Amino acid sequence: MNKFKEVSESYTMAEAIQEAQRCLRCKVPSCKKGCPISNDIPDWIHELRKGNMGNAIQIIRAKSNLPSVCGRVCAHERQCQGSCVLGKQGKNINIGKLERFIADFDAELNLTHSDIPAKTRGRVAVIGSGPAGLTVSGDLARMGFHVDIFEMEREAGGVLMYGIPEYRLPKEVVRREVRLIEELGVVFHMNTTVGEDITIDQMFEQGFDAVFVGTGTSKPRELDIPGKETKGAVMATHFLRISQLYQDGLAGRNEVAVKPGDKVYVIGCGNTAMDAARMAIRLGARTVDVVYHRTIDRMAALHSEYEEALEEGIRFNWNADIVEIHHDDNGSMTEIVMQTKKPAPTPEDPDHMEYERKTLGADVVLLAVGAQPATTASRNTSGINTDEKGFMLTREMPYGMTSRRGVFAGGDVANRQASVVHAMRDAKLVAEGIAQYVDAVKLMESIDLK
Ligand code: SF4
Repeated sequence: MNKFKEVSESYTMAEAIQEAQRCLRCKVPSCKKGCPISNDIPDWIHELRKGNMGNAIQIIRAKSNLPSVCGRVCAHERQCQGSCVLGKQGKNINIGKLERFIADFDAELNLTHSDIPAKTRGRVAVIGSGPAGLTVSGDLARMGFHVDIFEMEREAGGVLMYGIPEYRLPKEVVRREVRLIEELGVVFHMNTTVGEDITIDQMFEQGFDAVFVGTGTSKPRELDIPGKETKGAVMATHFLRISQLYQDGLAGRNEVAVKPGDKVYVIGCGNTAMDAARMAIRLGARTVDVVYHRTIDRMAALHSEYEEALEEGIRFNWNADIVEIHHDDNGSMTEIVMQTKKPAPTPEDPDHMEYERKTLGADVVLLAVGAQPATTASRNTSGINTDEKGFMLTREMPYGMTSRRGVFAGGDVANRQASVVHAMRDAKLVAEGIAQYVDAVKLMESIDLK
């Protein structure tokens, strides 16, 4: 059995229709309210129950450029599915799995094709091909803009390709979604780092009317722990990227931090931490411990992900921190010191905590404590204001424009780390902002010429 293979199974046609038949087609659908991109869920479920797959996918695609991705990695239990009125009886419609079924069915059978409008409204450069970049590109291409995407990696998809593991999101699914965006006439320039191979200024000189920066948060946050420079202390995002390259045959096994038999600790308890922990198990780690400084109810990871991680043998240490990392004379990791705290109220101090320290054998520590933007895209470009952490500052009108005229930003690079679908929601609004801006500039130019 391929241990990296996708873990959750799809519906059969009969199962999907049966599930769709349970939907009440509510007049005021709480599922739609729970969806960050206001997907018209009852309408496409209704088409599905009638077996009209083409209509169903067209309703979904009117709001989402990445339905096969959303069907797999969206936090449905906190969004659409969690808001379903049938949840009161514990029988929520499995919206995520239905969306995945329809999108896969359509793509595998090559059923529907989007109309491609003539590209007459202007040229837009998009930097980064993650969820935000792909969404802006898909929306603008459909609106009649010519779009070029510039991507530093050899394959498009950003975090979808190099951050979320294969077992949760197969890379063929990402490639398929990218191909559909390409079919809209979007041009991809791979292995191109903006700020090094081409600058934003040069993009304007080449005739682009607007530039969108959707480079996400590729710079991991560090933790200031004594021993953090020890061999084996690795950023979880880096570990996930190299693990994917290894599975693609583009990196050697020795480049992957986790080896069979290793004792692995993961600091953090968000989705990246969960992905890194579950990937470490698949790579043969003997033990994997998640270390989180808060309690289970404060973890950012989905509860379903946590349950699956538990089933795979991952251990969780709540109210815990790694406070030291030790190494041998060669600099290789030998031990960590974990500190746990538990409430020990006294009459004088009801918030009093007791601390306990343990020294434990360790081979690898994976850090998953958040990330911030890398500055590459804005390097060598003047006039783009960021906050102290490098997040780009944008305005409401036109939505998403930075302090530099014609340069827009969206997704995580402007809004801090969020989920795939939140990056998509923001990107959709920025696509509208870009369209309004370019149309206005062209109108003003045409008036000037008269
Ligand atoms: Fe169907 Fe649930 Fe949405 Fe109502 S809330 S329309 S039952 S999915």
